Amino acid sequence: MSFTNEALTDFTAPQNVETYRTALAEVRTRLGADYPLTIGGHKLETGDWIESYNPGDTSQLIGRSAKGGQAEVDRALTAAWAAFRPWSAQPMDERIALVRRLADVMRRRRFELAAWMTYEAGKNYAEADADVAEAIDFCEYYAAQAPALAGEHETYPSPGERNTSLLVPLGAGVVISPWNFPLAIFTGMAVGPAVVGNTLVLKPSPDTPIVAQKFIECADEAGFPAGVFNLVTGADADIGDYLVDHPTTRFINFTGSLNTGIRINQRAAVVQPGQLWIKKVGLEMGGKDALIVDETADLDYAARMAVASGYGFGGQKCSAMSRLIAVETIHDELVERFVTLASELEVGPADENPDFSALINQRAKDKSLEYIDIGRETAQLLTGGETGSEAGHYVTPTVFADVEPDSRLAQEEIFGPVVSIIRARDFDHALGIANGTMFGLTGGLISQDRERLDRAKREFEVGNLYLNRKITGAFVGLQPFGGLRLSGTTVKAGGPYYLRQYLAEKTIAEKQLG
Ligand code: NAD
Repeated sequence: MSFTNEALTDFTAPQNVETYRTALAEVRTRLGADYPLTIGGHKLETGDWIESYNPGDTSQLIGRSAKGGQAEVDRALTAAWAAFRPWSAQPMDERIALVRRLADVMRRRRFELAAWMTYEAGKNYAEADADVAEAIDFCEYYAAQAPALAGEHETYPSPGERNTSLLVPLGAGVVISPWNFPLAIFTGMAVGPAVVGNTLVLKPSPDTPIVAQKFIECADEAGFPAGVFNLVTGADADIGDYLVDHPTTRFINFTGSLNTGIRINQRAAVVQPGQLWIKKVGLEMGGKDALIVDETADLDYAARMAVASGYGFGGQKCSAMSRLIAVETIHDELVERFVTLASELEVGPADENPDFSALINQRAKDKSLEYIDIGRETAQLLTGGETGSEAGHYVTPTVFADVEPDSRLAQEEIFGPVVSIIRARDFDHALGIANGTMFGLTGGLISQDRERLDRAKREFEVGNLYLNRKITGAFVGLQPFGGLRLSGTTVKAGGPYYLRQYLAEKTIAEKQLG
């Protein structure tokens, strides 16, 4: 079935900026509200709340979402299993129609949903708009992929027997998602398994519970049956392990950091009393993504691509360039251009549409500052390293040069606006440095040398390789997304094999009697 990506909004057009500002003003009047859990179609309060604040203005309450505990997880999984039988028995076409309706609701609420992300996640207009567009894309793309998986699939013929396979959904699974694409990733991780007949307990990041609540509003509006999507917001310490360990959790669809992913993988491997299956775990994790620039590159272009890759959304993308690897002969010229552009970036409140805004929380800010301290000792600080306004979790665009490839700065994921520049003798050396971490998410090469571009295709060990462009901004269906090595289990969101991972193959052999 055909699929086209949702067009991004052009914010060079003044009327679009105006529409966005109107949406922000409208959403502002609704900040601070309380939201219940959604379990089996019931709206439920628990008497306790997770509070969500604007990362760029920590005095502004975005909303409170009910704080679920273990009892709510039990209820949510029971509700998901109760919904599983009818939902999985529904024809694929009907589920697809609902997912498409969800896309329509999001299209209609596009600017409003984006405005919520500007307030809750600190996304500027283009980043928030792209997040909604990607959520819509996930709905439409998985809806387009699903029909091929329906029905009976013939195996090779055998005399006197009919052999077929059915692809059957797994059951009730758990979605554990990050805050950095609070609508897109959350939607994709929920809608993919659901369209092929699974039911879900959704546990968003405690940093962006209100955007998750907006997803539920959209799903309710689209008319999803009760129990298909159950939302349990809560604290990691209360419900994280509990969701993973639960004997009735059939699968876990996780996107987040390496440490959490490894913990989930280990715990999910333990078969609990009463458990009837081996839990299936899909992990999308972090990166230490590198862009290589060689001596054949156009350096103005390379510097622009590097700045876009390193500082889009303040470096808070798993795909963000955190290492810029420059070959010796052009190193100084590239660094000069890069630092000039990086230091011109505007940092401020997200509703004013700066280049990037505050980091998501105090922990994220502290982490960036900790690495900045390390960098001051072990490398050369060229710009940034400051905190900016104390109203929120701000860190200015920071560049370190002469970073040693094996140092902590060059090996560990920072997830902030801190870029390490590494000097390489030549292209060979650069490729070795690029591959020299435990991660393998995204990477790129800017070069006009065909042989090197081809070599990168073979030897650069990343799930998403970008040649002669920025290394962020994968589009659903065009660039299936997910990493190699410790960046993940190659789940490949937005790709043709994604849905298949939430289905089991059941084979039926029927003897032709008489
Ligand atoms: P995180 O690991 O802190 O949290 C991710 C999710 O796991 C959240 O919902 C969190 O509440 C939950 N969680 C935390 N502890 C848990 C536990 N013990 N059991 C179960 N769940 C638990 O990550 P984050 O800060 O939300 O997101 C940023 C990270 O996500 C970065 O490392 C980034 O690279 C990664 N990421 C990867 C991709 C990808 O596609 N590969 C995409 C986006 C983000």
